Amino acid sequence: MTEIDIPESHPRYESLLTRHRIEAGVEKGITSQQGLIAQGRGEAFDYLLGEETIPSADAAERVAAAQLLAADHAVLSVNGNVAALVPGEIVDLAEATGADIEVNLFNRTRERMERIADHLRDHGGTEIKGLEADGRIPGLDHERAKVDADGIGSADVVLVPLEDGDRAEALAEMGKTEIVIDLNPLSRSAQSAAVPVVDNIIRAVPNMTAHARELAGAADDDLAEIIEEFDPEETLVAAERAIRGGDLDG
Ligand code: ATP
Repeated sequence: MTEIDIPESHPRYESLLTRHRIEAGVEKGITSQQGLIAQGRGEAFDYLLGEETIPSADAAERVAAAQLLAADHAVLSVNGNVAALVPGEIVDLAEATGADIEVNLFNRTRERMERIADHLRDHGGTEIKGLEADGRIPGLDHERAKVDADGIGSADVVLVPLEDGDRAEALAEMGKTEIVIDLNPLSRSAQSAAVPVVDNIIRAVPNMTAHARELAGAADDDLAEIIEEFDPEETLVAAERAIRGGDLDG
């Protein structure tokens, strides 16, 4: 990935780096034009959150790690923005949790699917799912419904970062435990998640990996307790409070 020369001391370093990665993703044919718009929306919310991981998001990231570790079959769903922003970090999270990686696009084309799979392999990914498309999510139109039967189709826990609301809701209706990363706590995706993570994916994924490594030896009962104690509603309220009132302890 080509990186521009932004001094790390720049006050908006992370924001500029994120923007540049999305631009590079569009140039490489990984990220769609709509992905640019989603990025703009995310940036606005991140600005309001103080561009940092608020404590409630850190707690949700720990719960997400526990969910991935406790799953029978966890899958990390990757779209064009996710691939452009955190390709190596997704591979690390998959390794730390034993999850599969599946490419899943809102605007699905064979060419973009393959480019993203190649991009993930360039970042250390081995088995990348999504190209079989032999499973369906009920309630969505044909192209949007496609998944791999032995991937998202049969997963019990799915991480869906930056997902559109329709698909997030449809996956939740299938009975899957859904972990959503979305900077907008009011989005339908965040609202339909069992574990909403209101944080920038750039910070959220490495932090989930750190939590997963820390929880790697935990007993099943301990993971179950972490999962049980979590209240998604409280997390969304805390994020909204942080955005509205600048209460960054939220
Ligand atoms: P809804 O869930 O309300 O239907 P949508 O389908 O309109 O939302 P998109 O336009 O597809 O959502 O945008 C995806 C979401 O991803 C937005 O809510 C945006 O805030 C969020 N987002 C964008 N960039 C990032 C990022 N880097 N990290 C986390 N979230 C992000």
